[in-house]
Amino acid sequence: MSKNFPNLFTPVTIGKLEIRNRILSTGHDTTLPTDGTVNDALIAYHEARAKGGAGLIVVQVAGIHDSARYTTHILMATGDECIPGYAKLAETVHSHGAKIFAQLFHPGREIIESQDGSIPVAYAPSVSPSDRFHCIPRALTRPIIREIVEGFGAGARRIEAAGIDGVEIVASHGYLPAQFLNPHVNVREDEYGGSFDGRLRFLREIVAEIRESVGRDFVVGLRISGDEVDAEGLTDADSLAAITALAPGLDYVNVIAGSSAKIGAAVHIVPPMFIEGAYVAPFAAAVKQAVDIPVLVAGRINQPQQAETVIASGQADMCGMTRAMICDPEMAGKAEADRSDDIRACIGCNQACIGHMQMGFPISCIQHPETGRELTYGKLRQAETPRDVLVVGGGPGGMKAAAVAARRGHRVTLCEASPRLGGQALLAQLLPGRAEFGGIVTNLAHEVAQAGVEVKLNTQVDRALVEAMAPDAVIVATGARPRWPRNIEIDDAAHVVDAWQVLRQEVNPGASVVIADWRCDWIGLGVAERLAESGCRVRLAVNGRHAGETIQSYVRDMMVARCHRLGVEIIPYAKLHGVDADTVYLQHSASGEPMLVEGVDTLVLAQGSESEDGLLAELEGYAGIVRPIGDCLAPRTAEEAVFDGLREAWQL
Ligand code: SF4
Repeated sequence: MSKNFPNLFTPVTIGKLEIRNRILSTGHDTTLPTDGTVNDALIAYHEARAKGGAGLIVVQVAGIHDSARYTTHILMATGDECIPGYAKLAETVHSHGAKIFAQLFHPGREIIESQDGSIPVAYAPSVSPSDRFHCIPRALTRPIIREIVEGFGAGARRIEAAGIDGVEIVASHGYLPAQFLNPHVNVREDEYGGSFDGRLRFLREIVAEIRESVGRDFVVGLRISGDEVDAEGLTDADSLAAITALAPGLDYVNVIAGSSAKIGAAVHIVPPMFIEGAYVAPFAAAVKQAVDIPVLVAGRINQPQQAETVIASGQADMCGMTRAMICDPEMAGKAEADRSDDIRACIGCNQACIGHMQMGFPISCIQHPETGRELTYGKLRQAETPRDVLVVGGGPGGMKAAAVAARRGHRVTLCEASPRLGGQALLAQLLPGRAEFGGIVTNLAHEVAQAGVEVKLNTQVDRALVEAMAPDAVIVATGARPRWPRNIEIDDAAHVVDAWQVLRQEVNPGASVVIADWRCDWIGLGVAERLAESGCRVRLAVNGRHAGETIQSYVRDMMVARCHRLGVEIIPYAKLHGVDADTVYLQHSASGEPMLVEGVDTLVLAQGSESEDGLLAELEGYAGIVRPIGDCLAPRTAEEAVFDGLREAWQL
């Protein structure tokens, strides 16, 4: 038994199914499937989590009706061709001692993507628009409702035939069953609308249809949001009433928060680091008081310590720790073995997990780019010829390269010019609400130490030092410096600083500030919040269509909301042209017309960065292998730096 987690690693029974511990990976889109069926990439992805100690894997949504295709990469359970893939997945997950459920799904009006570029017809209980996807749905007719209900039953039958242990009806996040429940969305006047019982009818029919379609021991659960965090959404009380009414037909309920229908509500689908840990647990506790089936909960439960508290206090029976296992597939096994210090903790950045999905790319993790790429990087290959490797630069990319190269058997030295490892991540953690980003430094530094890398801090590397050390390979990860564009006109009387100087508190901006944000990422918004909080009048001029346009939408939306509450004025389409003593000169990037911002004390440049590639130039002609990675290669983000580090170390 785990000394530190005596409750988390006890078995739990759902229906007649015993699960080895209280940790589950909740259903989440991976963008790994390519033709609507379970493929080898998805199997390898889930195998890593099952092997890593998860108790239960819930596989991503599967559409149960042709109108349920809400993305181009959704699984479908509408035909028997889905069975072989699910069967192989079930066999693989079971072989590692974990159990597996599959989600059955209809999004209703929440259609995210077109299948072919044309706008699809979305269906909902009534003609109630979805704000987030600008969708005006068609009201479902009774015959189509019947088809959908039967689709749930047929999907469950196929999934049971594949050897999966159970199904989960997705009524969370404002999807179709929740749309029926919601009186703001469902304004039908027939037997599927009106009273609470009428609005619950659709879900009752689904549960009954599934029960009739599967064997007695097959698990049937429900996922539902408590508070949809939407003035026109379901409340805790609404959802609790539905759960209580449906519980006799269910084996478990899995609770969460939020809704897909509104920008402010959707952030709870994958809550970013601004939101406190385990915040849905109080609702789970209320559900546990009301029903006598197991209650599962998720929502920023990133650490086993949080999960232990939730289970020990009786708030829930299992904890969804999805991103914790996207970031570290072995999280559960490490916690059980009381090796918590070895866990690569998820930092809630959302960048490569949900961020990739929203861009249509396979799931990954900025700290662990092996995720989603298990078929390529899942099994570490030992180096055929151990080499002397010098990594220059101790930012995330350099640390990842050093750790992977050392684990492959190379003799690795990591030199960092400053007194600390971390590089630009040390600055990123200074942005308001983003202190958790510093976890990437803690995690990678631990991996470097564990791998046996020799670390030399305060060590500036030049060609002479490289020649003296004579490594077989040099990985140059020297990062970047802030970019001060050469083509802007800066008057001598202007006060101009850069975002890094503000974050390091090296400068004193005046009372009225313009931030010229070229990259439209975290930095402009974060510095805007920091300065507005300190009492400045802040105008954020973004050289894009909107602030934060290059970052994951839930993170952006929360940062924009925080800035809005503080009175930050956002000026879109604004290319920086020049600055004098009290005016910033901008150009509208669509019309080309000038825009003047007057009464400015300080201009803050957030204009991206430039590669620190001096050493790379110095090493031209060096006898060994020389490889630039990360911002030294081209300024991007921590994700690309870490992935570059993995790729280069993999090839040595
Ligand atoms: Fe966590 Fe960020 Fe990795 Fe997503 S990308 S799993 S949020 S660390």
